Amino acid sequence: MKELRVSTGQRSELIDITAQVREAVVEQGVRDGVCWVFVPHTTAAVTINEGADPAVRKDIVAELDKVIPLDDGYSHLEGNSAAHIKTALTGSSEAIFVKDGSLVLGTWQSIYFCEFDGPRTRRVLVKVIAG
Ligand code: ZN
Repeated sequence: MKELRVSTGQRSELIDITAQVREAVVEQGVRDGVCWVFVPHTTAAVTINEGADPAVRKDIVAELDKVIPLDDGYSHLEGNSAAHIKTALTGSSEAIFVKDGSLVLGTWQSIYFCEFDGPRTRRVLVKVIAG
């Protein structure tokens, strides 16, 4: 398993980690299988979406902020319930097929680390399972 470090710079942002995940796949030397990407945090997530136009990730962040406001009378006293809820909706893992040593992603797909309670330094776990 490979552990990636992601330094985030804003409270909420999507960071393209596709290149780092591709490197992790190459390092693990598995030609065919499944790559699991797991984010071991409760206020950060991972998703796959369009990588060609940076406006897409900006729109995702902006709309999540509208749907899940920062302050909405939440019970959780830490003050970051919005980040927990966004994480619950986005998800903590993605599985991507690996074929001939490469990730099988659609033409427009990129893998995004989703920060919802930054800025922080975060971990992302990547493991390729042969099969
Ligand atoms: Zn919390």
